[in-house]
Amino acid sequence: MRVLLVEDSVALADSLCAVLKEAGYAVDWRADGRDALVLGEQEPYDLCVLDLGLPGLDGLEVLRRWRAGGLALPVLVLTARSNWAERVEGLRAGADDYLTKPFHPEELVLRLQGLSRRSHGHEPGKPLEARGLTLDETRQRVAAATGGASPVVLSATEFKLLRYFMLHPDQVLSKTRLAEHLYEYDSERDSNVIEVQVNHLRGKLGRGVIVTRRGQGYIFVGHGS
Ligand code: CA
Repeated sequence: MRVLLVEDSVALADSLCAVLKEAGYAVDWRADGRDALVLGEQEPYDLCVLDLGLPGLDGLEVLRRWRAGGLALPVLVLTARSNWAERVEGLRAGADDYLTKPFHPEELVLRLQGLSRRSHGHEPGKPLEARGLTLDETRQRVAAATGGASPVVLSATEFKLLRYFMLHPDQVLSKTRLAEHLYEYDSERDSNVIEVQVNHLRGKLGRGVIVTRRGQGYIFVGHGS
């Protein structure tokens, strides 16, 4: 999952980048509202954390323009403490959730997990379940939804990949699309890495969990029927 983080406080952005990467998100950080506006329209982000007081272009204006242009990207707005008017304005402009500063980074991670589950039609307060598997996003491990066998521990890359698959079950996902959602803006996107990681997941979860469509990509079918 790729996150666009828009925050002009360098210290806060630094700490949030670290926490979000630790939680398995590929993070692109921008401090200026104009840069964020363009990047949000260009790149296929899964989530956005948007501060409102920004240089260049106000966060509310960035959000309004995205929504006016039909961009459905789930956006969590960061607002100043006790500024209820800002929260209301944010929601009115099309924010999906908000968090009041100061907050604990852990809370942001939990809110984003909930927001991404909700935006894919899952219950936000429950672990991500898809096709017979349950993903523990905090511990980065996966188990059969029916219980039974002990949870399987995943590497950081396996976790990112499986989460994306589980949010998009039964869809053909090309290597290019997977790479776009797992790697940051300026990273080398080597689609061979995807192939290797898919094979790791098959080794841990069973060969049939991810089906190859030759020349097209992969389909996550999970353990369910
Ligand atoms: Ca600010």
